[in-house]
Amino acid sequence: MQIQLSDSLTRSVKPLPVPEGQHHFGVYCCGPTVYGPAHIGNFRTFLVQDVLHRLLEVLGYSPYFVRNITDVDDKTIRQSQQEGLSLQAFTEQWTKIFHKDCTHLNMLLPHEEPRATAHIEAQVSLIQKLMDKGYAYQGSDGSVYYKVDAFADYGKLNHLDREALQTQSTTSSGSQNQADEYDRECVADFALWKLHKEEDGDNAWESPWGKGRPGWHIECSAMAMQYLGETFDLHGGGVDLCFPHHENEIAQAEAVTGKPFAHHWFHIAHLMVEGQKMSKSLGNLYTLSDILEKNFSVMALRYALIAGHYHQPLNFTFDTLHAASSALEKLDKGVRALLKQASMDEAVFEGLKPDYDDGASLFPGFWARITDDLNVPGALGELFKAINSLKPDTLSSEEATKLLKELATVFYVLGLKVLIDAPTEDVPEAIQLLAQKRWEAKKNKDFAAADSLRQELESQGWKVLDSKDGYTIEAL
Ligand code: AMP
Ligand code: ZN
Repeated sequence: MQIQLSDSLTRSVKPLPVPEGQHHFGVYCCGPTVYGPAHIGNFRTFLVQDVLHRLLEVLGYSPYFVRNITDVDDKTIRQSQQEGLSLQAFTEQWTKIFHKDCTHLNMLLPHEEPRATAHIEAQVSLIQKLMDKGYAYQGSDGSVYYKVDAFADYGKLNHLDREALQTQSTTSSGSQNQADEYDRECVADFALWKLHKEEDGDNAWESPWGKGRPGWHIECSAMAMQYLGETFDLHGGGVDLCFPHHENEIAQAEAVTGKPFAHHWFHIAHLMVEGQKMSKSLGNLYTLSDILEKNFSVMALRYALIAGHYHQPLNFTFDTLHAASSALEKLDKGVRALLKQASMDEAVFEGLKPDYDDGASLFPGFWARITDDLNVPGALGELFKAINSLKPDTLSSEEATKLLKELATVFYVLGLKVLIDAPTEDVPEAIQLLAQKRWEAKKNKDFAAADSLRQELESQGWKVLDSKDGYTIEAL
């Protein structure tokens, strides 16, 4: 099955090339700037990319997924200094938290996760090539700038009017372009290498233009080409990155190679909270732990963040999270009814490997929607329609098993774990102690003692269930 996806460069929905032979589908996504916890807006973008990653995998595209870590910029430097930590120790700590959140949200690991500071040489070498070809110059302040006028295609991703560029005054993050701070020939020119300033502290690297640090945009061009080649299949990020970051990435790469940088540009609309832009000052900026503290499940958050179409801004509210929780409960119920019919264990279902068979699909509506410009809401609608129309008790065990196998593939693509754990009962401490004693007796092969402890537990209304490496206690 072929995936169709909107492309920001051509502003059209384009089919992704059919997978063939040994080709890996190369994907580069701009990753987090690690100076604090990622917020749920960042995770909207990362989760939509995760669904695409999973879909590519299941449909046989053999994705090779690269997502960088931005571990040097004004914010990381400033914040590390305020906390009295080295840049490395500071960014390492936030990278670890990012990884933990990603695992918790059930995101696939990227194949490569290059850090900007570990690729300074590649960035310096790319800047040198731009200098050699006349696309870059050293300003009188010592910093090196990209000469936007020299690249005829500048603005093609954002369909920009070149004249308007001369007056460009804000960056994607909304901050001022600092036109007066740097000595550039043209206001649209952007920094490739920033000469060391006192406030940068120890954070400087050697280069042919003096000690300094790379500008933000160059890391992605250099690292994408290092891991995916001069031209690769798809480049993604939140919509705020479209300009200037991705425009600049194209300019840096294509000026040097003369080849298209990425075939496909995939941008995800922003998350809003209660209709407003998320910001600390409005008190509406949430992280994963903020949501968990409010007793929502991580799966409910994942569901809520992927359930809106990536084209549209997603308005996040706590009602959305409640709705996501009840949608998950419905899926849990539907799957459990099928498990019963198929006499399949929960663990067996959870261990099923994704396996998509185009010709034999039992949920064609789901696949038609999800491959049509990653229409997750449409796909979920089709899924619920199909599940609601099932009458599990009329199904044979084989039929139920087939449905479960395909559902496992569907949930793999969505990254959803739908079986909700039954709430654990509070086991009194005395019972826990008895059960512990019985386990030890059993381990010591004192089966008579183990049996009598089991009877004692049962007489008090509890039974123990043994597994390979432990036991669980349940009320009788
Ligand atoms: P950053 O850590 O700021 O570099 O951003 C990491 C990713 O999150 C980028 O792809 C951004 O475009 C994306 N992003 C930032 N804010 C939001 C938001 N409110 N909604 C969706 N994506 C966002
Ligand atoms: Zn980037």
